[in-house]
Amino acid sequence: MTRRGWELSPADDNLVSMDDVVIEVNGLRRSYREFEAVRGISLRIRRGELFALLGTNGAGKTTTIEVLEGLQPATAGRVRVLGLDPVQDRYALRPRTGVMLQHGGFTGALTVRETVEIWRSLTVRPQTTAEVLDLVDLGGRRNVAVEQLSGGEGRRLELALAVLGRPEVLFLDEPTAGMDPASRRRTWDVVRELQRGGTTILLTTHYLEEAEVLADRVAIMRRGSIVATGAPEDVVRTLPARISFRPPATDALPDLPHAARLVEGDRVSYESRQLQTDLTRLLEWASAGNIRLTSLSARPATLEDVFLDIAADHDPTDRYAESEAAR
Ligand code: ATP
Repeated sequence: MTRRGWELSPADDNLVSMDDVVIEVNGLRRSYREFEAVRGISLRIRRGELFALLGTNGAGKTTTIEVLEGLQPATAGRVRVLGLDPVQDRYALRPRTGVMLQHGGFTGALTVRETVEIWRSLTVRPQTTAEVLDLVDLGGRRNVAVEQLSGGEGRRLELALAVLGRPEVLFLDEPTAGMDPASRRRTWDVVRELQRGGTTILLTTHYLEEAEVLADRVAIMRRGSIVATGAPEDVVRTLPARISFRPPATDALPDLPHAARLVEGDRVSYESRQLQTDLTRLLEWASAGNIRLTSLSARPATLEDVFLDIAADHDPTDRYAESEAAR
């Protein structure tokens, strides 16, 4: 893959009208003692948008989301949620936001229904217990002790609690971690339904397919900074598509007009900037020479390709050693 293509991805925040902005982050920095985990990031998320924050382990996603939730103060920069300061205006903001943390805490001996009812007693304008359990498909598990829920069911209960107060803004930190594919898809449906109802959603996820399917826009973080941002299809377009096949029984391979050829083990690959044109040229060449292309595949880049390209020189154990050494 051509490296660094993602650096060309558009910084499209300027396109967002300020009237629509629900989450605004300007030059956010967050340090833990001398270690700066978030290094001057900026983003704007508009009303009703679903925005996914992506990045390798330890890139600074949870730190960012916790600052937005008011659970941690910013070290520098400005953060606003619904026009309010998440730390100073916490009491005004709390009823308008829903939070699903990476590691929620439940009292295991209580049943699902009892857990929801305790939370309802603390929530302004809550949904009914039946409504919210139906939403996350846990109605049939309402009398089960929380400690007996599977990991995926536990995450769905956390989601139910996060949306109990019909929040305008919802923060989801790895909402589908540990879920099987069927539960994950059910959760995506819930998230889509909430978005259709007008909720603004900021989520972090390690499942890139999840971001590709759900997100209006994504930002990819690396070492405390945002290195790519935009609609998933725009971010993906920064990398070339790929055509590949087994080496045919001829030494002469064609030149394709918008592609670079790579030799990779037992495959011939092309990185193409114009997939349709290059693929047509290849097939015409094969047809004219009566050449059979075995295991032929042609596909555009995916978000996972961009992610892996960005992560390629990232060593998650180094705690951003490069820049610390430079200090
Ligand atoms: P993951 O995908 O693994 O959840 P992340 O992108 O959410 O990672 P953060 O949890 O924000 O990353 O962590 C960013 C960096 O800050 C990491 O190097 C982490 O070790 C460090 N860090 C996080 N919390 C603290 C803390 N309370 N004290 C010191 N360092 C911390």
